[in-house]
Amino acid sequence: MSSAGKAARAIVWLAVFVGVTIAMVVIRDRLDRVHVTLAYLLLVQLASARAGRALGVTLAIMSFLAFNFFFLRPYGTLAVASPLDWLVLVAFLITSVVSAQLLYRARALGAERERLSAASDRAQTLEQSIRMKDETLAMVSHDLRTPLTTIKGLAHEIAANGDERADVIEEEADRLNAFVGKLLDLSRVTMGTGALDIQPNEAEDLLGAAAQQAQAFSGGHELGFQVEPSDSMLFGRFDFVQTLRVLVNLIENAAKYSPAGAPIDVGARRVGQELRFWVADRGPGIADAERERIFEPFYRRRVGDADMAGAGLGLSIAKGIAEAQGGQLTCAPRDGGGSVFTLSVPAIDLPRDDASADDSGAS
Ligand code: ADP
Repeated sequence: MSSAGKAARAIVWLAVFVGVTIAMVVIRDRLDRVHVTLAYLLLVQLASARAGRALGVTLAIMSFLAFNFFFLRPYGTLAVASPLDWLVLVAFLITSVVSAQLLYRARALGAERERLSAASDRAQTLEQSIRMKDETLAMVSHDLRTPLTTIKGLAHEIAANGDERADVIEEEADRLNAFVGKLLDLSRVTMGTGALDIQPNEAEDLLGAAAQQAQAFSGGHELGFQVEPSDSMLFGRFDFVQTLRVLVNLIENAAKYSPAGAPIDVGARRVGQELRFWVADRGPGIADAERERIFEPFYRRRVGDADMAGAGLGLSIAKGIAEAQGGQLTCAPRDGGGSVFTLSVPAIDLPRDDASADDSGAS
């Protein structure tokens, strides 16, 4: 409330106080001390409940003085004749101040409860709408799959009869199908419905599988794979298939967004309780302002060849998979230019004996 509003309210309550006091002075002879006490208490409590603690306490003190001045003999002075009257006065003061405080607190608690309940309503609505969006996404992408398969099948048949335009239809159907597949993956990741098969796995196995898949699209790039330090085995706890997808996606991006011939380095190392896979490129790098945003669904940087950019879903799916298995996916600038994407998963400590026995066998 504005300070002008507060002052107006205080004046109204003071006027009520003066009115009540005058009315009681007029009929003073017919009143008992109890009546006066109750009337003033009621006034103090109402004022505290409606106008706040400060006014309540002020009225309590004013009532205390007025009670003494007008209603305790000798009238018209602040002197008190009987010790019992002192008791009444002190009891009145304590009761009225305490009740002013209590009422104020009750009011504050009520307001806080209202605020909390409104906030929780909003959070619930938000959660519901996110869930609905995810469910719609899952449903729509699922339903798109069937007609797409039909379109692709028919286009394939027509292409066989020599119509080249049918090839284009088939290609576009494939693209759309891949997009729908990504949407489904995204909805599985965000709804947490994609079951992960988390097992102890070796870093080198994952790098080997990724190297094999990367050959298919590494055209022109020099791919280097390394494990650090090369003589120890690195194990982590992760879903092999999904993590491989993430790593391959990172290599694919590195190849897609860096100039032909630029080297791409991929490796793994243990840092504390994490097993970290990294993909480093000599591409254009990513500006500070975009480093978080590239992990958002549908976010694409508007640079370079427009054909190159995909749907902007790869990194958000990758991050979702990383986090679902207790890891993370981050991006940082690379010394000397380019970017480093780091995928971390929980590391596993191997019993020392096994590790050294295997080491000697491997070297
Ligand atoms: P897209 O399907 O567009 O590749 P992603 O989610 O994989 O979607 O990536 C989002 C955006 O992040 C891309 O559009 C691209 O601009 C940027 N990006 C991803 N990887 C790299 C990289 N290695 N170097 C530079 N920019 C990158």
